[in-house]
Amino acid sequence: MLAAGFFVLVIIHGVFHWWMEPIFVAKGSHFGGMPDMVADTLLFGLFCLYAFWFYRRSERKRDKYQTLLNASESMAGTGAWTYDVRGKSFHATAGLWQIIEKESDPLHSIEACLSMVDVSDRERIGSAIKKALHTSSGWQLQYGITTFKGHRKRIESKGKVLKIGGNHFLVATIFDITVTTEQQRRVHFFNALVNHSYESVLLTDTERRIFYVNEAFCKMTGYTKAEVIGQTPHALKSSGHQDAAFYERLWESIERKHHWEGELLNRKKSGEVYRERIVISAVYHDEALLGYGAVSSEIASRNKTLEHYLHIGEYDPLTGLLGRFAFMERLDTTIVSQSSAQQLALLLLDIDNFKKVNDGLGLMSGDRVLQLIADRLQSLCEDAVAVGHIGGDEFGILYTDLDDEALHLKSVQIQELFAVPFGIADTMVYLSCSIGIALYPYDAADADAILRKADIALQQAKHAGKGSTLFYSAQIEGNAPQMLALEHQLHEGIERNEFFLQYQPKVSLIDGEITGFEALARWKNSEGESIPPGRFIPMAEASDLIITISEQLYAQAFAFADALAAAEPDRDFHVALNLAARQLGKPAQLLTLLENLFERYPKAAHHIELELIERMLLESNQELLNVMQTCKTMGIMFAIDDFGTGYSSLSYLKKFPVDKLKIDQSFVKGVLKDDKDRQIVSTIIQMAETLGFTTIAEGAETEAEVRFLQRHGCAVAQGYYFSKPVEPNRATELFLLQPFKDDTVFFGDYTI
Ligand code: C2E
Ligand code: CA
Ligand code: CA
Repeated sequence: MLAAGFFVLVIIHGVFHWWMEPIFVAKGSHFGGMPDMVADTLLFGLFCLYAFWFYRRSERKRDKYQTLLNASESMAGTGAWTYDVRGKSFHATAGLWQIIEKESDPLHSIEACLSMVDVSDRERIGSAIKKALHTSSGWQLQYGITTFKGHRKRIESKGKVLKIGGNHFLVATIFDITVTTEQQRRVHFFNALVNHSYESVLLTDTERRIFYVNEAFCKMTGYTKAEVIGQTPHALKSSGHQDAAFYERLWESIERKHHWEGELLNRKKSGEVYRERIVISAVYHDEALLGYGAVSSEIASRNKTLEHYLHIGEYDPLTGLLGRFAFMERLDTTIVSQSSAQQLALLLLDIDNFKKVNDGLGLMSGDRVLQLIADRLQSLCEDAVAVGHIGGDEFGILYTDLDDEALHLKSVQIQELFAVPFGIADTMVYLSCSIGIALYPYDAADADAILRKADIALQQAKHAGKGSTLFYSAQIEGNAPQMLALEHQLHEGIERNEFFLQYQPKVSLIDGEITGFEALARWKNSEGESIPPGRFIPMAEASDLIITISEQLYAQAFAFADALAAAEPDRDFHVALNLAARQLGKPAQLLTLLENLFERYPKAAHHIELELIERMLLESNQELLNVMQTCKTMGIMFAIDDFGTGYSSLSYLKKFPVDKLKIDQSFVKGVLKDDKDRQIVSTIIQMAETLGFTTIAEGAETEAEVRFLQRHGCAVAQGYYFSKPVEPNRATELFLLQPFKDDTVFFGDYTI
């Protein structure tokens, strides 16, 4: 540009001389030298102006490019410097000042710059530069610095020595590699951790193709890295324990929350099933999915290792109990080796409303609850021949040598296991179970048939309401003609008013006075056959028939109480009625019935008591409490029946308007034989007294039992010792005659 400008000026100068000179020469030769000088001076001035303009323009341009270069340096985190070895002058670019976080300072010496370098790196840098000077070569180094603002940085420097005109110049670029180094450090760190972790790690791309697994994964699953890289986890052996719907939910959760955590059953390369706790995460970067990562570890079983169980091949991996197949095999072999005189019982257990747990808390929590149930069952039923997880929420327990009574007690104990809630994370899960029992050789002669019969009993128990136990009998077999006949007969019985009550006196253990009666249902069918309540009540309770039957019986009991109150208006007594769970299930109907009956039999007021079992309270809700409170306002008392066989928490009972506890007859029967029963009975009496409950002992059959109860402060007893349940007329007679007041048990000294 500058040359072009100069050339233009030379041409102008030539034209000027060629054009102006003849004019000046024509005007007078004595002017000949002047115009030439003026023209040259003018042209020189013009040239200077042009050169100045040109210089300014280039400077502006250079500033602009420098700014741009500085910006790109700063973006790249780079800087540069030169050092004139002889002149000892140091020059650095803006990028360098930015890296060391200092205002541009041309006077700043190379020594001052070196002072920022980590002490441990200085010697290395010094010798690298010296070596470069001697050999006229270059260097490449990494070192740490502390900037003028005190930040730690990692620098990479590349430089070389240039020899210009016999002088040496050091020329170097520096890169701020702090971020990259930190990232690399982290990657190394994580690599080391992940590689040597005990947890298995699996990473996939967005297509769920595995690109990385660690050692722990290989160890846990038995697959080598080569076998799995490039595969999808789905292509590996699956346990088959989780269905497609389960995986759909799992992936749906990952998509929604970018994360899923839980337990899975998986299969190793060897085919062995194992249980793992796993966290699957969707990994995103700048909102773009990078892939998925799974971190998992195998869960060992509770008692023995799961591996051991699975090795044997009999055990259910979820619960560690016998699986269905193995359990059935055990049932079969026990039957074969059993003498037909020995009784073998199959207790089939099903959790009531288990679906609610799965639906409400998720399948993982459901599985956890099943494990907890399995644990409790296993420790309670240590004496069983086998305890198995039949499938879903069903368990089987096999007993030999237990008579009906012991089996009943065992089933009560099993149900007690459920009285204590199951803690899952921070949720308390309240459950109950139904039990169906079938006996060999009475109910069936082979394993499959026994299971079928136990299942029939179980189904009926479930119908009977939560927490029921039912022994199989032909009568309860759903499709059996006898069952249908019984149900038909129940309907007929209701129509024909065949149900009636017998009354069993409750006697004060202080003076033998009759304090009341329990009304017990009786049924004589159209053929004149007496059917025991143990048989028809469960059948009736399996449907709303119990409500209709109770309505008929309650009317009789109110009439009875009304008559007794009329006969002895000043006497304090109570007629106790059994309350079925289904009646509480229809509270409005129950309250209307009671109101109507009090209207019809006004003298029965304050003489009615309702007996309910603890389990009904355990499933309690505000509605039940309201019903009980409304009943209280009608003057009704509440007694807890069969106390001691359920949850047996006295303080819990205090939440409800309960007045009396009826100690279950199984304990009363044991007071003479069993130390534990003696303790239970005396403890219940003491604690009940402290909390203000009246105790009633059921099933007192002998004088010795009555005396024991008396001595321990039990208020009232009911049992064959005083009287079996009797017809209303006889009951009225007893009520008026008060024969027990003369009983020897209230006189003399007698100890056991
Ligand atoms: P529960 O309520 O526990 O009734 C006490 C049972 O013990 C009665 O059996 C009674 O006869 C029996 N018992 C009383 N004293 C003795 C004794 O000293 N020794 C022995 N071995 N047993 C004694 P029952 O009458 O066979 O009733 C059986 C069950 O049927 C009752 O047990 C109750 O759960 C149910 N039940 C009876 N009547 C009704 C009713 O009207 N409604 C409802 N929902 N259930 C009823
Ligand atoms: Ca009762
Ligand atoms: Ca009872």
